[in-house]
Amino acid sequence: MSSLAERLARPEVLALEPFDIAANNAMAIPDAIRLDANENPFPPLIDGALATNVNRYPEPQPARLKAALAALYGVEPGNVVVTRGADDAIDMMVRAFCRPQTDAVAICTPSFSAYAHFVRLQGARLIEAPLTAGFDFAADPFLAAVSGERNLKIAFICTPNNPTGNEVDPNQVLKVAAALPNTIVVADEAYLDFSSTPSLAGDAARCPNLVVLKTLSKAYGLAGARVGCAIGEPDLMAIAARALPPYPMPSLSVDAAVLALSPSRRAVHQERVERLKTDRSRLAERLQGSPIVRRVYPSGGNFLFLEVDDAPALAARMRSMGIRVRFRPNAAPGGVRVTIGTDAENEALLNAFGVTSEPSSPRRAEVIRDTKETEIAVAVDLDRPRPRKIDTGVPFYDHMLDQVAAHGGFSIVLDCDGDTEIDGHHSIEDCALALGTALSQALGDKRGIRRFGFTLPMDEAQAQVLIDLSGRPYCRFEGEFAATSIGEYPTQMTRHVFRSLADSMGAAIHVKVDGENDHHKTEACFKAFGRALRDAIRREGDALPSTKGVL
Ligand SMILES: *Cc1c(COP(=O)(O)O)cnc(C)c1O
Repeated sequence: MSSLAERLARPEVLALEPFDIAANNAMAIPDAIRLDANENPFPPLIDGALATNVNRYPEPQPARLKAALAALYGVEPGNVVVTRGADDAIDMMVRAFCRPQTDAVAICTPSFSAYAHFVRLQGARLIEAPLTAGFDFAADPFLAAVSGERNLKIAFICTPNNPTGNEVDPNQVLKVAAALPNTIVVADEAYLDFSSTPSLAGDAARCPNLVVLKTLSKAYGLAGARVGCAIGEPDLMAIAARALPPYPMPSLSVDAAVLALSPSRRAVHQERVERLKTDRSRLAERLQGSPIVRRVYPSGGNFLFLEVDDAPALAARMRSMGIRVRFRPNAAPGGVRVTIGTDAENEALLNAFGVTSEPSSPRRAEVIRDTKETEIAVAVDLDRPRPRKIDTGVPFYDHMLDQVAAHGGFSIVLDCDGDTEIDGHHSIEDCALALGTALSQALGDKRGIRRFGFTLPMDEAQAQVLIDLSGRPYCRFEGEFAATSIGEYPTQMTRHVFRSLADSMGAAIHVKVDGENDHHKTEACFKAFGRALRDAIRREGDALPSTKGVL
């Protein structure tokens, strides 16, 4: 017998012919006439892009998604098996390696309920290793709980743990893997994005008996698409994948996941995770003040675990208010797990916990704008000065938009993946349109904002920008540039950018610039725009700054 995977796999699984031979052969001939799989030649009767290729069976292991996941987690595609969510990866591992009645799986308690579910479904034996009173995971007590088990095939360790939120020291996981060379240690990193713990994905790619599970359900907002993966040594992954059905990944889900993982989305995803982490701390602090909360545990997930007095009363109140949370009395008496939601959802939750809520009307927006020429994701928050992270693909323009954010005193996260190999035109214009749309959405009904203008000198140059957030787009631009470009940035685009901003913001924007140096003149325009915007968007009370009562 050779590899660890072959030694540990169920004999039935080893005897299986891999399912995907026929599919892979068909894939090998590009544009082949596909008469091999009894598909319907006509696309389904659904709208537009959704219909593309849905009449065809998907790739068993979609190559583009696999590559995107491998890149995301810093491993090679051969280390990745794509699954319908991490749930399916749990099932796959148990079915590939555990013989019914004979083999055992160790889990921690309390932890994610799906491990025990799939182990029971397979008829394998379940060994439960309790976590400490504070829910901490430590290798030594875990190893003591499984000592003497001869057929321990898998150990699941949830990091951070669900439902209790505690982070797990990766060295403790590696210690278990080293101590149990004939057991596959599966580190479930479903919530790792929200923690400060480093990932074990790189270790899993090298270590013969370590597997890491990942999911796009939590940090990437794709729970409904069902996309996750297992990461491990290629041989182990190939044998585990035999337990999957022939075409596990729906092509619609694959397309959604590939789009969500495209480079232009990275910065906004990261910003969302940061926001959820900040909100988690804020929420934890405020829940501590609830009259019914006994304890809030520290959490590395997008949720908090609490212990409350009188859980049944809380459950009734939650029901009457239409709020769903997860009661976990088996994890701890009065245990409740609450997910971090939007500001409004969090306030409603606090209310139900008897914490007086702070009415907030956040002025934020996220805009996605994709064309054949550019893919853009932008997030703005008008009430926070940071972060400012701008990557348009045109460095000088990054600098200009950063000036708008810095002088405007608000946060812009913008990432553009555009055809800058042709020139900057599309990226510059489309970023302005996406940013303007985001600003307009963040301003909402414009309650408390004003009309404003600003004049700004910059050495010999001078720029004046007047803004009226009137709802009526109009742009006036007075000024000429001598040079055709500044770096990769064509000077004629400045006029264009302000027109695009006016159109997408629904604002009147008047720009007047003169001077000698085109760099100074351009920069003065953007800075003055930021300054004017800073004043225009400042909230002063609740009144609409218009006699019409609507802007
Ligand atoms: C949510 C969750 C999963 C499953 O994620 P899916 O990809 O949606 O199946 C796996 N493990 C843990 C600990 C989870 O909480």
